[in-house]
Amino acid sequence: MAPPFSWLRPEPHGLYITPADAWIDPARPVDLALVTHGHADHARGGHGRTVATPETLAIMGLRYGVVEAGSLPVAYGETVTLRGDVRATYVPAGHVLGSAQILLEHAGERVVITGDYKRRADPTCPPFEVTACDVFVTEATFGLPLFKHPPIADEMAKLLGARENEEGRCVLVGAYALGKAQRVIAELRAAGFTETIWLHGAMERMCRLYEDHGVDLGDLKAVAGVPKNALANAIVVCPPSALNDRWSRRLPEPITAMASGWMRVRQRARQRGVELPLIISDHADWDELTTTIAQVNPAETWITHGREEALLRWCELTQRKARALALVGYEDEDD
Ligand SMILES: [Zn+2]
Ligand SMILES: [Zn+2]
Repeated sequence: MAPPFSWLRPEPHGLYITPADAWIDPARPVDLALVTHGHADHARGGHGRTVATPETLAIMGLRYGVVEAGSLPVAYGETVTLRGDVRATYVPAGHVLGSAQILLEHAGERVVITGDYKRRADPTCPPFEVTACDVFVTEATFGLPLFKHPPIADEMAKLLGARENEEGRCVLVGAYALGKAQRVIAELRAAGFTETIWLHGAMERMCRLYEDHGVDLGDLKAVAGVPKNALANAIVVCPPSALNDRWSRRLPEPITAMASGWMRVRQRARQRGVELPLIISDHADWDELTTTIAQVNPAETWITHGREEALLRWCELTQRKARALALVGYEDEDD
């Protein structure tokens, strides 16, 4: 008999499912890819076939211009059977629109691969579901005890407060174009902000895609061509790269804000010249990571994609079998 879980092999550029000849979130083009979500470090273009949620396939279509023939949409809760009698079920991960954990079942063994995930409520995607398994493959982007994301309502209050206190200026919020931007907008709406939210051109298509998938973002308009004085006290959302570039000179004295889990680290905020750091992350923080491992309570935990060491140590201290995977190519596009 084969040793346990030998059918799932961690390779440097992804997890390889041997009997199905398929990869999870591979960092290079392969014949058959199972993709957890649309961020570029997980969803690369150029695969022969991609298995993903319909939302993730739509995001990949928007970003890469093509969805390969034979790509297979799998709705949440749906199971597909791959070659070699491997079953794959897509389960909500609560990270961004379309994001999924992938439950693999083979030879009587169950493995859950989280992709990126968080446990906080997010109005733009369904919540993470705890799924029983033998092996739990978890991300660890914010795998240090110092990372504790504050309640998002506090960060929204900071943002709205800054806007009210600085008469005539606008607030420019740097946020990743996939996920973070739409979550910030939806949370502003939830906080009762009903005015127009202004977008950098690079944000528009992804926001429309979210709306096409039923996420209400309220009144959005493009900044392009709008006179400076019309943007006094406005909230403008742009990609982080546009925060301090020439583009922002068209805005009235912007207060630069940035929505990221890394804003917990003062140095990072300073490096980016951010006046108003907003600690908003689409990843699990330390408490969410450890709580989730305890709830799933797997026989083994495999840790990847970030700060593995501290979480590995925590597993040892709590008598949990764990190992760190050395996968490459995951960058925090989506922090
Ligand atoms: Zn991600
Ligand atoms: Zn990631």
